[in-house]
Amino acid sequence: MKVKFWGVRGSLPTPGPKTARYGGNTTCLQVLRDKGPLLILDAGTGVRELADHLMKTEKPPFDIRMLVTHTHWDHIHGFPFFTPIYVPGSTIEVYGIGPLHNGKGFERVMRDQMTYSYFPVENTMLDNTVKYFDFNDMFKYREGGVEGQFKAADGVTVKLKLTNHPVYCVAYRIECDGKSFIFTGDHEPYYDTRLPAEVTAATDETNTETRSLVELMNDRFIEFCEGVDLLVMDTTYTQQEYETSKRGWGHSYFEYNIQVAKRARIKKLAFTHHDPTRTDDDLDRLMAKYLDMAKAELPSCEVFAAREGLVVEL
Ligand SMILES: [Zn+2]
Ligand SMILES: [Zn+2]
Repeated sequence: MKVKFWGVRGSLPTPGPKTARYGGNTTCLQVLRDKGPLLILDAGTGVRELADHLMKTEKPPFDIRMLVTHTHWDHIHGFPFFTPIYVPGSTIEVYGIGPLHNGKGFERVMRDQMTYSYFPVENTMLDNTVKYFDFNDMFKYREGGVEGQFKAADGVTVKLKLTNHPVYCVAYRIECDGKSFIFTGDHEPYYDTRLPAEVTAATDETNTETRSLVELMNDRFIEFCEGVDLLVMDTTYTQQEYETSKRGWGHSYFEYNIQVAKRARIKKLAFTHHDPTRTDDDLDRLMAKYLDMAKAELPSCEVFAAREGLVVEL
């Protein structure tokens, strides 16, 4: 199994010469295998590049499983430009979770971005190719239910874990061909909302019950990540940025992710969802610093920043 990055930017596409090396497209990853349906994670604007590639290299009709972490724009706004959805005879299964707000499920949210006010092509054009699956329906046994697993294709097991984000978001753990890989989508460490931001872990000031709960939630996330060959994590901020003004925005930071990789004994760690304000030079500077930190903390783990076009062998 290999994983390819088609979009690595968080929140907003950032085209232009200052972001050309890491890339300005929003989130999209592809799992590369020798056989079976095409596996894609998230449909940020990177998915358009992937579509162009597929149209040139694959023979239609297409058989695709798309796993969407959540319905924030930067994870779905490339979808209307994903050309295979318009290719007759193709099967595009799109999995995700609806925000359950105003009664909207996953399908409704996905379809809404292709309505008259926003996009010129009608949803009905896709009815024969695209099918939506909402984890709220698939895993009814749990309220908001998305901690479960299913087979996305022969030999491909997908495990799900809710993350800590302002809208329902799932991390995916994909296991196939004897390898495993996690993409967290957007995720912020769990914290005690009553403590100041610089207190990033539960302390003696936290009452025992809350401390246990915060620790338990973070421990469960680490258990989910345990031992994977590749962990791709939302790394929007530095710890200082996070503590100064970004707590509660639903994103993680370099220092925390290094600790997760350490505790979960990860083999490869990729930082992604780069903050849209960062230039390539900014990212180079940050990576120099955090690679040093990672070398000290994670000597046996390969650590790197995701960039467009990068292929990682597991
Ligand atoms: Zn995002
Ligand atoms: Zn988000």
